[in-house]
Amino acid sequence: MTNKQIASVLFEVADVLEIKDPDDRFRFNAFRTAGQKISALGDNIVDVYNAGGIEALRKIPTIGQTIADAIAELITTGRYKDLEALRKQIPLPQLEFSKIPSVGPKNAAKLYELTGAKTIEALARKIKKRKTLGPFKEKTLQNVLRGIELLRRSKGRILLGEALPVAQKIVAQLEGSGTVEKINVVGSLRRCTETVGDIDIVAASSNPREAISQFTKIVKGKIIAQGDTKCTIVNEDGVQVDLEILPKDKYGSLLQHFTGSKEHNIAFRSYLQLQNLSFSEHGIKKLKAGRWPLRAKNISFLKKKALDRAPADTVLKCATEQEVYNYCGMDWIAPELRENRGEVTQAIKGELPRLVEEKNIKGDLQMHTIASDGEATLAQMAGEGQRLGYSYIAITDHSPGLAIAGGQSSTQLQKQIREIDAWNKKSKNIKIIKSIELNINADGSLDMDEAILRQLDFITASVHSSFRQSREKMNARLERAISSGLIDNIGHPTGRLIGRREGIEADWDKIYKLCADYHVALEINANPHRLDLSDKMIIEAKQFGVKFTISTDAHSVEGLSNMIFGLKMARRGWLEAEDILNTRSLSTLMEWVRR
Ligand SMILES: [Zn+2]
Repeated sequence: MTNKQIASVLFEVADVLEIKDPDDRFRFNAFRTAGQKISALGDNIVDVYNAGGIEALRKIPTIGQTIADAIAELITTGRYKDLEALRKQIPLPQLEFSKIPSVGPKNAAKLYELTGAKTIEALARKIKKRKTLGPFKEKTLQNVLRGIELLRRSKGRILLGEALPVAQKIVAQLEGSGTVEKINVVGSLRRCTETVGDIDIVAASSNPREAISQFTKIVKGKIIAQGDTKCTIVNEDGVQVDLEILPKDKYGSLLQHFTGSKEHNIAFRSYLQLQNLSFSEHGIKKLKAGRWPLRAKNISFLKKKALDRAPADTVLKCATEQEVYNYCGMDWIAPELRENRGEVTQAIKGELPRLVEEKNIKGDLQMHTIASDGEATLAQMAGEGQRLGYSYIAITDHSPGLAIAGGQSSTQLQKQIREIDAWNKKSKNIKIIKSIELNINADGSLDMDEAILRQLDFITASVHSSFRQSREKMNARLERAISSGLIDNIGHPTGRLIGRREGIEADWDKIYKLCADYHVALEINANPHRLDLSDKMIIEAKQFGVKFTISTDAHSVEGLSNMIFGLKMARRGWLEAEDILNTRSLSTLMEWVRR
């Protein structure tokens, strides 16, 4: 059993318990938190159990006796009897309806009772015909329909944060096996879209059969198809993984072709058509005799002569992707940019952005500790930050308004400030920025006094409630917070949860302008479930001169490793290091804050 499979059982137990008794928060939340912990765990939980039994499981934070027993039962028998018994007590449709985003267990029960629908599709049909239904008003019914649509769209999609580590591990193992000379992830996963359908990998190898055989050993699961150069496996988590071995001399053009996007490839090919060239996965074809029509980059004099002399219909094979773009007179285009958002034109002009890189990130500006709803201490978070090579981190425990997340009172915050001062005096390497994640209340006020905020270095504020306010109310709410002169950054700006909750509605152009005017940055939240702002919104906000932060919003030591996913969004949003505050040194960051 994989961590993900075990986590999904725990999530289901939580859901069923919540449907049975929505007031017994403590009980169902325990299962849900444990599920989250296990899905984020670096170690394989089966290995943990095999090495140290139930005792070892109990050492994992958030896992108590009941849950440790449940996990042990799952690992040893493959099932959890309590869940099976619980399931029998609840009608199946009710259980299904509770999975619709924005429909809680209580509403699921009511919807089932009122419509008698047996499936989600039937429920959608019945709701569409009505304006109201029992206690449900039109707006609520619309939300249910939106939730059903969201569920439909996210079906079969995997989060980037889940797919990328799996793919990278397979790639590393295949490289380690010595059976491949080149290897790349392709498709939407290489472009780092926020969700992907499956994992596609291509490789070059002098011994394709051996490479495929290694692949079947590395990826555990069900082999769907296996040929001499191609193999498809559905892994234990139900994710389809494909490997295709490509010929070496055409590797570059094939890699470009399989990476997409379709829109990028169309734009790229249409441009070449205008130049009397055509491109396919087999190479670049010269349509007319005579001089090579484009000014190829990074090419030797002799090669240039050869291209000029080549007759019509010659196909130029490309072993690397650099060659593909360079022969066509363009700079190589990073996969994250290949969405037909103007990248082809910029590549021709030699004006592509110098995208931000992992090594540019100097710190993480949002994380939580045991002082609010996090799992680790300030010292543990700082220690991990140092291991990641950061020169600073900001501790942003919640403010008192977020009681559910154990928000700190001002007395507790004072104590934390002293703790941070002591740390900074002692630590030569990593510094801690005094910070907080405030609540932006429904009316736009902030839930902490100015006097105490003045003692902090960097202030993030976020929307955590009343997500479905009208556009007008939301605009006024955000405007009041941004123009307060107290905040530096807005956390997870839209509040969306991918596949589960849509973001708030606001006039974003207006908000971007306010942020630029009042010197308030927008966060790119790197949590794989959030990735908030999205790539599209990042591009828009940048036009207004907005600055950004990329932060993990980590609630545990492991959570700090999610930075990479926020970084990928920033790259998809065409950002350079200078657009992002946490690429700056601590002193230049603080200069920005004081301005
Ligand atoms: Zn938050």
